[in-house]
Amino acid sequence: MNLSEIHYPHTLQELMLLLEHERKVQIVAAGTTFGCIQDSRYLSFEPSIVYIQHIPELSSIHKTERMISFGAACTLSELEHVYPFEHKQAKELLHTIGTSAVRNIATIGGHLMYGKRFLSLWALLACLDAELEFRAFSKTSTKNIWYLADEMGLPAIESGRLLTRIRIPLQSIDYLFIKRIGGSIFPDGDGAYLVSAATVDRRLISDFKLVIAGARAYRNYDAEQRIISAPYPLPARILQSALRMYAESLRKSNFWNAELLLPLISQALEDLRQSNT
Ligand SMILES: Cc1cc2nc3c(=O)[nH]c(=O)nc-3n(C[C@H](O)[C@H](O)[C@H](O)COP(=O)(O)OP(=O)(O)OC[C@H]3O[C@@H](n4cnc5c(N)ncnc54)[C@H](O)[C@@H]3O)c2cc1C
Repeated sequence: MNLSEIHYPHTLQELMLLLEHERKVQIVAAGTTFGCIQDSRYLSFEPSIVYIQHIPELSSIHKTERMISFGAACTLSELEHVYPFEHKQAKELLHTIGTSAVRNIATIGGHLMYGKRFLSLWALLACLDAELEFRAFSKTSTKNIWYLADEMGLPAIESGRLLTRIRIPLQSIDYLFIKRIGGSIFPDGDGAYLVSAATVDRRLISDFKLVIAGARAYRNYDAEQRIISAPYPLPARILQSALRMYAESLRKSNFWNAELLLPLISQALEDLRQSNT
Protein backbone atom coordinates (compact mmCIF):
# COMPACT_ATOMS: atom_id res chain seq x y z
CA MET A 1 0.00 0.00 0.00
CA ASN A 2 1.31 3.45 -0.94
CA LEU A 3 1.00 6.21 1.62
CA SER A 4 0.66 9.83 0.61
CA GLU A 5 1.61 12.82 2.70
CA ILE A 6 -1.01 15.58 2.81
CA HIS A 7 0.11 19.21 2.95
CA TYR A 8 -2.07 22.16 3.91
CA PRO A 9 -0.21 25.31 2.84
CA HIS A 10 -1.66 28.60 4.08
CA THR A 11 0.18 30.97 1.74
CA LEU A 12 0.99 30.99 -1.94
CA GLN A 13 4.68 31.06 -1.09
CA GLU A 14 4.40 27.90 1.02
CA LEU A 15 2.51 26.23 -1.82
CA MET A 16 5.16 27.25 -4.37
CA LEU A 17 7.92 25.82 -2.19
CA LEU A 18 6.04 22.54 -1.89
CA LEU A 19 5.44 22.29 -5.62
CA GLU A 20 9.12 23.06 -6.25
CA HIS A 21 10.50 20.52 -3.79
CA GLU A 22 8.08 17.61 -3.78
CA ARG A 23 8.67 14.98 -6.44
CA LYS A 24 5.14 14.16 -7.51
CA VAL A 25 2.26 16.24 -6.27
CA GLN A 26 -1.50 15.86 -6.53
CA ILE A 27 -3.25 19.23 -6.26
CA VAL A 28 -6.59 19.01 -4.48
CA ALA A 29 -9.15 21.80 -4.27
CA ALA A 30 -12.55 20.47 -3.07
CA GLY A 31 -11.79 16.91 -4.20
CA THR A 32 -15.25 16.40 -5.78
CA THR A 33 -13.78 14.67 -8.84
CA PHE A 34 -11.61 12.24 -6.89
CA GLY A 35 -13.61 9.12 -7.55
CA CYS A 36 -13.91 10.01 -11.24
CA ILE A 37 -10.37 10.86 -12.29
CA GLN A 38 -8.96 7.55 -11.11
CA ASP A 39 -8.29 5.18 -13.98
CA SER A 40 -8.76 1.98 -11.98
CA ARG A 41 -11.29 0.76 -9.42
CA TYR A 42 -8.71 1.39 -6.71
CA LEU A 43 -7.85 4.85 -5.46
CA SER A 44 -4.23 5.75 -5.90
CA PHE A 45 -2.56 9.06 -5.16
CA GLU A 46 0.75 10.74 -5.77
CA PRO A 47 3.25 10.60 -2.85
CA SER A 48 2.28 14.19 -1.95
CA ILE A 49 -1.18 15.69 -1.85
CA VAL A 50 -1.51 19.46 -1.58
CA TYR A 51 -4.78 20.92 -0.39
CA ILE A 52 -5.06 24.47 -1.74
CA GLN A 53 -8.27 25.75 -0.18
CA HIS A 54 -6.60 27.53 2.78
CA ILE A 55 -4.80 30.05 0.58
CA PRO A 56 -6.61 33.42 0.58
CA GLU A 57 -5.05 34.63 -2.73
CA LEU A 58 -6.62 31.67 -4.52
CA SER A 59 -10.12 32.55 -3.30
CA SER A 60 -10.24 36.26 -4.05
CA ILE A 61 -12.17 38.01 -6.81
CA HIS A 62 -10.83 41.27 -8.28
CA LYS A 63 -12.61 43.52 -10.69
CA THR A 64 -11.13 46.43 -12.60
CA GLU A 65 -12.63 48.53 -15.36
CA ARG A 66 -11.48 46.07 -18.01
CA MET A 67 -11.14 42.69 -16.36
CA ILE A 68 -12.54 40.35 -13.75
CA SER A 69 -10.21 37.86 -12.14
CA PHE A 70 -11.24 34.87 -10.01
CA GLY A 71 -8.87 32.90 -7.81
CA ALA A 72 -8.80 29.26 -8.96
CA ALA A 73 -10.11 28.09 -5.57
CA CYS A 74 -13.27 30.25 -5.75
CA THR A 75 -16.28 28.00 -5.47
CA LEU A 76 -18.86 27.93 -8.24
CA SER A 77 -21.40 29.46 -5.80
CA GLU A 78 -19.07 32.41 -5.14
CA LEU A 79 -19.12 33.24 -8.84
CA GLU A 80 -22.90 33.42 -9.03
CA HIS A 81 -23.21 37.19 -8.70
CA VAL A 82 -20.24 38.34 -10.72
CA TYR A 83 -19.57 38.73 -14.44
CA PRO A 84 -20.36 36.77 -16.56
CA PHE A 85 -22.71 34.81 -14.26
CA GLU A 86 -24.82 37.86 -13.44
CA HIS A 87 -26.05 37.41 -17.01
CA LYS A 88 -29.29 35.38 -16.81
CA GLN A 89 -28.36 32.59 -19.25
CA ALA A 90 -24.84 32.23 -17.83
CA LYS A 91 -26.29 31.94 -14.31
CA GLU A 92 -28.76 29.29 -15.49
CA LEU A 93 -25.86 27.35 -16.98
CA LEU A 94 -23.96 27.58 -13.67
CA HIS A 95 -27.05 26.28 -11.86
CA THR A 96 -27.14 23.13 -14.03
CA ILE A 97 -23.91 21.97 -12.35
CA GLY A 98 -24.60 19.41 -9.62
CA THR A 99 -26.60 20.76 -6.70
CA SER A 100 -26.13 23.87 -4.55
CA ALA A 101 -24.25 21.66 -2.06
CA VAL A 102 -21.82 20.65 -4.83
CA ARG A 103 -21.44 24.22 -6.10
CA ASN A 104 -20.75 25.44 -2.55
CA ILE A 105 -17.51 23.42 -2.48
CA ALA A 106 -16.57 22.67 -6.12
CA THR A 107 -14.02 25.17 -7.41
CA ILE A 108 -13.68 26.83 -10.79
CA GLY A 109 -10.02 25.70 -10.93
CA GLY A 110 -11.03 22.05 -10.44
CA HIS A 111 -13.76 22.48 -13.05
CA LEU A 112 -11.25 23.69 -15.67
CA MET A 113 -8.44 21.30 -14.71
CA TYR A 114 -10.66 18.18 -14.68
CA GLY A 115 -8.69 16.74 -17.58
CA LYS A 116 -10.99 13.94 -18.75
CA ARG A 117 -13.27 16.22 -20.74
CA PHE A 118 -14.40 19.82 -20.93
CA LEU A 119 -17.05 20.51 -18.30
CA SER A 120 -20.14 22.74 -18.53
CA LEU A 121 -18.57 26.20 -18.19
CA TRP A 122 -15.68 25.65 -20.57
CA ALA A 123 -17.39 26.69 -23.81
CA LEU A 124 -18.80 29.85 -22.20
CA LEU A 125 -15.43 30.87 -20.76
CA ALA A 126 -13.77 30.15 -24.12
CA CYS A 127 -16.34 32.39 -25.86
CA LEU A 128 -15.46 35.16 -23.41
CA ASP A 129 -11.71 34.82 -24.07
CA ALA A 130 -10.79 33.69 -20.56
CA GLU A 131 -7.11 33.71 -19.70
CA LEU A 132 -5.53 31.37 -17.20
CA GLU A 133 -2.67 32.28 -14.91
CA PHE A 134 -0.33 29.42 -13.96
CA ARG A 135 2.32 29.85 -11.28
CA ALA A 136 5.50 27.95 -10.65
CA PHE A 137 8.17 28.82 -8.09
CA SER A 138 10.03 31.29 -10.27
CA LYS A 139 7.63 31.91 -13.09
CA THR A 140 4.10 33.11 -13.79
CA SER A 141 2.60 32.47 -17.19
CA THR A 142 -0.69 33.54 -18.67
CA LYS A 143 -2.33 31.41 -21.35
CA ASN A 144 -5.54 31.62 -23.28
CA ILE A 145 -8.04 28.95 -22.15
CA TRP A 146 -7.40 27.09 -25.45
CA TYR A 147 -4.06 26.12 -23.97
CA LEU A 148 -6.07 23.38 -22.18
CA ALA A 149 -6.92 21.76 -25.55
CA ASP A 150 -4.47 20.11 -27.96
CA GLU A 151 -4.56 20.42 -31.75
CA MET A 152 -7.20 17.65 -31.95
CA GLY A 153 -9.36 19.53 -29.45
CA LEU A 154 -8.72 16.96 -26.71
CA PRO A 155 -8.05 18.02 -23.10
CA ALA A 156 -4.34 18.67 -22.54
CA ILE A 157 -3.72 19.15 -18.83
CA GLU A 158 -0.20 19.00 -17.43
CA SER A 159 -0.43 17.39 -14.02
CA GLY A 160 1.12 19.25 -11.10
CA ARG A 161 0.81 22.63 -12.87
CA LEU A 162 -0.87 25.13 -10.56
CA LEU A 163 -3.68 27.26 -11.96
CA THR A 164 -3.87 30.37 -9.80
CA ARG A 165 -6.33 32.74 -11.50
CA ILE A 166 -8.88 32.97 -14.28
CA ARG A 167 -9.16 36.39 -15.94
CA ILE A 168 -11.97 37.45 -18.21
CA PRO A 169 -12.04 40.73 -20.14
CA LEU A 170 -15.19 42.65 -19.25
CA GLN A 171 -17.15 43.22 -22.40
CA SER A 172 -20.76 43.74 -23.18
CA ILE A 173 -22.49 40.43 -23.94
CA ASP A 174 -25.14 41.63 -26.36
CA TYR A 175 -26.08 38.19 -27.56
CA LEU A 176 -25.63 34.83 -25.87
CA PHE A 177 -26.80 31.44 -27.09
CA ILE A 178 -26.31 28.35 -24.91
CA LYS A 179 -27.51 24.87 -25.86
CA ARG A 180 -26.76 21.54 -24.32
CA ILE A 181 -26.24 18.60 -26.65
CA GLY A 182 -26.40 14.89 -25.86
CA GLY A 183 -26.35 13.18 -22.47
CA SER A 184 -24.27 13.57 -19.36
CA ILE A 185 -21.46 16.09 -18.97
CA PHE A 186 -19.93 14.73 -15.78
CA PRO A 187 -18.11 12.47 -15.00
CA ASP A 188 -18.12 11.48 -18.67
CA GLY A 189 -20.65 10.75 -21.40
CA ASP A 190 -21.53 12.20 -24.76
CA GLY A 191 -22.82 15.58 -23.51
CA ALA A 192 -21.43 18.90 -24.72
CA TYR A 193 -22.32 22.59 -24.71
CA LEU A 194 -22.61 24.83 -27.72
CA VAL A 195 -22.15 28.46 -26.72
CA SER A 196 -22.10 31.50 -28.94
CA ALA A 197 -21.53 35.09 -27.79
CA ALA A 198 -21.45 38.37 -29.66
CA THR A 199 -20.73 42.00 -28.87
CA VAL A 200 -22.34 44.71 -30.93
CA ASP A 201 -20.87 48.16 -31.34
CA ARG A 202 -22.63 50.87 -33.34
CA ARG A 203 -24.67 48.39 -35.39
CA LEU A 204 -21.62 46.26 -36.20
CA ILE A 205 -20.79 42.84 -34.72
CA SER A 206 -17.49 43.72 -33.08
CA ASP A 207 -16.85 40.30 -31.54
CA PHE A 208 -18.30 36.85 -32.20
CA LYS A 209 -17.38 33.39 -31.00
CA LEU A 210 -18.98 29.98 -31.22
CA VAL A 211 -17.50 27.15 -29.19
CA ILE A 212 -18.57 23.53 -28.71
CA ALA A 213 -16.99 21.67 -25.80
CA GLY A 214 -17.52 18.22 -24.35
CA ALA A 215 -15.25 15.27 -25.02
CA ARG A 216 -13.39 17.67 -27.31
CA ALA A 217 -13.43 21.40 -27.92
CA TYR A 218 -14.19 22.97 -31.28
CA ARG A 219 -14.13 26.44 -32.79
CA ASN A 220 -13.84 27.70 -36.38
CA TYR A 221 -11.79 30.93 -36.43
CA ASP A 222 -12.42 31.60 -40.14
CA ALA A 223 -16.19 31.38 -39.75
CA GLU A 224 -15.99 33.71 -36.73
CA GLN A 225 -13.93 36.18 -38.77
CA ARG A 226 -16.59 36.05 -41.50
CA ILE A 227 -19.12 37.30 -38.94
CA ILE A 228 -16.94 39.82 -37.07
CA SER A 229 -17.36 43.33 -38.52
CA ALA A 230 -20.60 42.34 -40.26
CA PRO A 231 -23.59 44.64 -39.79
CA TYR A 232 -25.99 43.84 -36.97
CA PRO A 233 -28.51 42.17 -37.30
CA LEU A 234 -26.48 39.65 -39.30
CA PRO A 235 -27.29 39.71 -43.05
CA ALA A 236 -28.60 36.41 -44.48
CA ARG A 237 -25.82 36.02 -47.06
CA ILE A 238 -23.10 36.23 -44.35
CA LEU A 239 -25.06 33.77 -42.23
CA GLN A 240 -25.18 31.28 -45.13
CA SER A 241 -21.51 31.70 -45.93
CA ALA A 242 -20.48 31.18 -42.25
CA LEU A 243 -22.78 28.16 -42.02
CA ARG A 244 -21.06 26.58 -45.05
CA MET A 245 -17.71 27.10 -43.34
CA TYR A 246 -18.97 25.39 -40.18
CA ALA A 247 -20.43 22.52 -42.22
CA GLU A 248 -17.16 21.93 -44.04
CA SER A 249 -14.97 21.98 -40.94
CA LEU A 250 -17.31 19.82 -38.83
CA ARG A 251 -17.47 17.18 -41.56
CA LYS A 252 -13.71 17.30 -41.99
CA SER A 253 -13.16 16.80 -38.24
CA ASN A 254 -14.37 13.18 -38.40
CA PHE A 255 -15.48 13.54 -34.82
CA TRP A 256 -18.44 15.88 -34.52
CA ASN A 257 -21.90 14.91 -35.70
CA ALA A 258 -22.40 17.64 -38.31
CA GLU A 259 -26.02 16.67 -38.99
CA LEU A 260 -26.86 17.23 -35.32
CA LEU A 261 -24.80 20.37 -34.82
CA LEU A 262 -25.50 22.33 -37.99
CA PRO A 263 -29.18 22.99 -37.18
CA LEU A 264 -28.08 24.32 -33.76
CA ILE A 265 -25.38 26.53 -35.28
CA SER A 266 -27.93 27.70 -37.82
CA GLN A 267 -30.33 28.52 -34.96
CA ALA A 268 -27.57 30.45 -33.13
CA LEU A 269 -26.81 32.49 -36.25
CA GLU A 270 -30.48 32.93 -37.13
CA ASP A 271 -31.05 34.43 -33.65
CA LEU A 272 -28.21 36.84 -34.35
CA ARG A 273 -29.87 37.71 -37.65
CA GLN A 274 -33.24 38.37 -36.11
CA SER A 275 -32.35 39.81 -32.72
CA ASN A 276 -32.24 43.50 -32.03
CA THR A 277 -30.46 44.75 -28.89
C1 LIG B 1 -22.55 15.28 -7.78
C2 LIG B 1 -21.77 16.10 -8.81
C3 LIG B 1 -22.44 16.55 -9.95
C4 LIG B 1 -21.74 17.30 -10.91
N1 LIG B 1 -22.39 17.75 -12.02
C5 LIG B 1 -21.74 18.45 -12.95
C6 LIG B 1 -22.38 18.95 -14.11
O1 LIG B 1 -23.58 18.79 -14.30
N2 LIG B 1 -21.65 19.64 -15.01
C7 LIG B 1 -20.32 19.88 -14.82
O2 LIG B 1 -19.71 20.51 -15.65
N3 LIG B 1 -19.69 19.42 -13.75
C8 LIG B 1 -20.34 18.72 -12.81
N4 LIG B 1 -19.69 18.28 -11.71
C9 LIG B 1 -18.24 18.46 -11.66
C10 LIG B 1 -17.80 19.70 -10.91
O3 LIG B 1 -17.85 20.82 -11.77
C11 LIG B 1 -16.38 19.43 -10.50
O4 LIG B 1 -16.41 18.26 -9.69
C12 LIG B 1 -15.77 20.53 -9.69
O5 LIG B 1 -15.86 21.79 -10.30
C13 LIG B 1 -14.31 20.22 -9.45
O6 LIG B 1 -13.83 21.12 -8.49
P1 LIG B 1 -12.99 20.60 -7.23
O7 LIG B 1 -12.60 21.81 -6.50
O8 LIG B 1 -13.72 19.54 -6.48
O9 LIG B 1 -11.76 19.96 -8.00
P2 LIG B 1 -10.86 18.71 -7.50
O10 LIG B 1 -11.67 17.47 -7.57
O11 LIG B 1 -10.18 19.04 -6.22
O12 LIG B 1 -9.79 18.74 -8.68
C14 LIG B 1 -10.13 18.38 -10.00
C15 LIG B 1 -8.84 18.26 -10.82
O13 LIG B 1 -8.30 19.56 -11.00
C16 LIG B 1 -7.01 19.66 -10.43
N5 LIG B 1 -6.97 20.98 -9.82
C17 LIG B 1 -7.88 21.53 -8.97
N6 LIG B 1 -7.56 22.80 -8.70
C18 LIG B 1 -6.41 23.05 -9.39
C19 LIG B 1 -5.58 24.20 -9.54
N7 LIG B 1 -5.85 25.35 -8.92
N8 LIG B 1 -4.47 24.11 -10.32
C20 LIG B 1 -4.20 22.94 -10.96
N9 LIG B 1 -4.93 21.83 -10.88
C21 LIG B 1 -6.04 21.89 -10.11
C22 LIG B 1 -6.88 18.51 -9.44
O14 LIG B 1 -5.55 18.08 -9.30
C23 LIG B 1 -7.75 17.45 -10.12
O15 LIG B 1 -7.00 16.79 -11.11
C24 LIG B 1 -20.36 17.57 -10.72
C25 LIG B 1 -19.70 17.12 -9.58
C26 LIG B 1 -20.39 16.39 -8.62
C27 LIG B 1 -19.66 15.90 -7.41
